[in-house]
Amino acid sequence: MKFNNIYLIADEHFDSSLLTKTLELLRSVPGPIRFSAVPESLLTGTDSNTLSAADRRQHLLQTIKRYREANKTPEQDSLILLSGLSDDFYWFNSKFVDGNDGIVYGSDWDRYFSVPTDSVYPVVYEITAWVLRSRLFGNISEAALHAHRSPRGCFMDLCTNDSDVTLKMRTGDICPECLEFIREKRLSTVVVSQIFQLWNVVSSKLSYRNTAGFQEELMPLEINFAKKELYLTGYDAVIELAPIQMSVYAFFLKHSKTGIALRELTADLLNRELLPLYLKLFKGSISDEARATVESLADPASNSLSEVISKIRRKFLDSVGSETLASHYTINKGLKENNHRIRLPEQLVRWVDSNGFGTPAPWEQSSKDGR
Ligand SMILES: [Zn+2]
Repeated sequence: MKFNNIYLIADEHFDSSLLTKTLELLRSVPGPIRFSAVPESLLTGTDSNTLSAADRRQHLLQTIKRYREANKTPEQDSLILLSGLSDDFYWFNSKFVDGNDGIVYGSDWDRYFSVPTDSVYPVVYEITAWVLRSRLFGNISEAALHAHRSPRGCFMDLCTNDSDVTLKMRTGDICPECLEFIREKRLSTVVVSQIFQLWNVVSSKLSYRNTAGFQEELMPLEINFAKKELYLTGYDAVIELAPIQMSVYAFFLKHSKTGIALRELTADLLNRELLPLYLKLFKGSISDEARATVESLADPASNSLSEVISKIRRKFLDSVGSETLASHYTINKGLKENNHRIRLPEQLVRWVDSNGFGTPAPWEQSSKDGR
């Protein structure tokens, strides 16, 4: 007998606003399954970034166990650990721990989708798919026996290819065989229907919107670096960036041909190329504080670079209202590539001064012009 209490525990790498949105969406469909968040970070103090994938998995499992013991969680209640670490993807992108507990990963979902995707949808899908699987199967090996090796657009697809993941979530469906299996197991109809309704929401948000995007035309982007303003001509949209966001954006524009992998962004490279851009905006000299801000971007434990990138993305999205359109202007990782880049064609990028006249890109200007 499974209880219907699902507790979400986010580790310190998991984006807190994503947690809020996840909970909101999970609770938007009424039903017997109750989702709540445990408002504490359990992994603090352990630099789980430095662990190997296998050790980290072990570490996450231990964390769940520790929590369970400390809080005397009833055995029938479920704990799902939401981890913000991403390089640990494996079967179903979530770990179905034997018993009632699981792990779901909350970052790097963009790599599965050709357009920037709000992680809340894949995360909600994974959580609910996990809830259903944990009710159908006693353990991971039993579930593995029922997994589909070739994709059917079903929650039991094994998903050996990245595109299978998007198919599964965009379909948000279940194959006749699995449906039959659910009937055999005599799962509560209201529980199953609560999960299916959430899948419908996810699928409607993730389906291809090529028809909607048909009328969206790429327009030139004017960049006033000194004013930290981006202007989307034709859409009459002004996007104001904070100094660090403007510097990061300019840096990625500089590398827009091939892009650059986030892990290649060493403190050394950032000090050489990004720090001068950042300082230009302050018209200042190299202070320790500026250096620390820039170097924190290179620190994989700090997550601050991803935060800057997602804040820029949010600003574009708020201005143009379309994910497909915004994705041409924002910093993204391609579906099959490791590098992050801005996909906007070079001829559509125009650097301007405060009078609207064309000007060289900031890294091409001498320091005298820039002051
Ligand atoms: Zn199936």
